[in-house]
Amino acid sequence: MRMRSQVHGVRDRGTGVASAVDPREIAREVALNRREFLRSAGSVVLGGALVHSGLPVYAAVARPGKKVVVITFGGGARDQETFAPEGQENIPHLMRELIPQSSFFTQVVNRGILGHYVATASLATGVYETINNFASLPPESPTVFEYFRKELKRPASDAWVVAPSNGFNRIGESNNRSYGPGSGARVILPKYLLSAATSSSADYGHLLRDSYETPLYAPELGGNTFELEQMERLLKLSVDDFKSHARTLSSPDELSVYLVRQLMKQLSPSLLWVTMHDIDIAHAGAYSLYIEGIRRTDRLCAELWNAIQSDPEYAGKTTMFILPDFGRDSDEDAGGNGFQHHRTGDVLSRTTWMMALGPGLRQGVGYDRALDSTDLVPTIGSMMGFLPSLAHGKPIAELL
Ligand SMILES: [Zn+2]
Repeated sequence: MRMRSQVHGVRDRGTGVASAVDPREIAREVALNRREFLRSAGSVVLGGALVHSGLPVYAAVARPGKKVVVITFGGGARDQETFAPEGQENIPHLMRELIPQSSFFTQVVNRGILGHYVATASLATGVYETINNFASLPPESPTVFEYFRKELKRPASDAWVVAPSNGFNRIGESNNRSYGPGSGARVILPKYLLSAATSSSADYGHLLRDSYETPLYAPELGGNTFELEQMERLLKLSVDDFKSHARTLSSPDELSVYLVRQLMKQLSPSLLWVTMHDIDIAHAGAYSLYIEGIRRTDRLCAELWNAIQSDPEYAGKTTMFILPDFGRDSDEDAGGNGFQHHRTGDVLSRTTWMMALGPGLRQGVGYDRALDSTDLVPTIGSMMGFLPSLAHGKPIAELL
């Protein structure tokens, strides 16, 4: 419980009110905590390798045929249930299999709005989007998918998003005039497909849970919705096979990963974005379900990495990023309700981690300097050979 007590100590040394403490002091304490937490994780899985500088290790060479897969470990996971010492038992696959192969960043700070759609859209544009989290709106800045397709002249079949809920159906392309309709990623909403495929939700209710924060709200779909007929044609997956396989699955994220694997097999897209969301069941208030979501996401991340390694279209040329969209409220903040929500915007709910795995990247190395959530898109651009000219972040030198 080192992290929690240290952060608590920050408040005690001030007036007892978080807002009265110098934010720079809080940030400094959080940085120290994360250095400590990396050291504890690192002594086991990183072989103690901790790098303080941001010096590049490899020269940036964007290679043709390069593929990138992004997994958001969401929605909303705190350190103390993941990489902090007391949480590591919940992520055995990340700890034992993936971290030893990855460049691991302990501080990724999200300075934007902590809602899942708007935060994921910000990750995908490299700009903190301010769109209404609960409306069916496209991002305002160009997405990584639009930059990728336009600059590298890639077809629509080469950029895909698999996303958890109806609110994400617009994430594939922005309303920026130079890009926009038809120039971004196709978006698959597995739950939408499943409900379209089944007349009764009796057998599938556990796969159709949606919009955990506002269970009664279902944003309208529209525009370029990926339909069952396209699933049959493009993914070579019949409605009957889809339904019968879905019956064997236990959660919406498992359904997403099933469709991701189908996409990889049939179309092998070069830019593939998977948004996990099971963890957000935490809003219902059951800690055990939140932990179960983390454990499942941990397993699914390893499953996808293994699928990449065993697919000749992906093996040896794919970089995979795993990062949460953001954290959740700390137990110490009187304005929140702990793990259940992400409403306070406190420092811990904004500070997460990221790992990157793939050819040319250093393995088993941790970096404790602070990154920004918006650094992801410029980094992907440098790796793949395009320039996200309107993104605000910076390429991560340690990965290039
Ligand atoms: Zn949430």
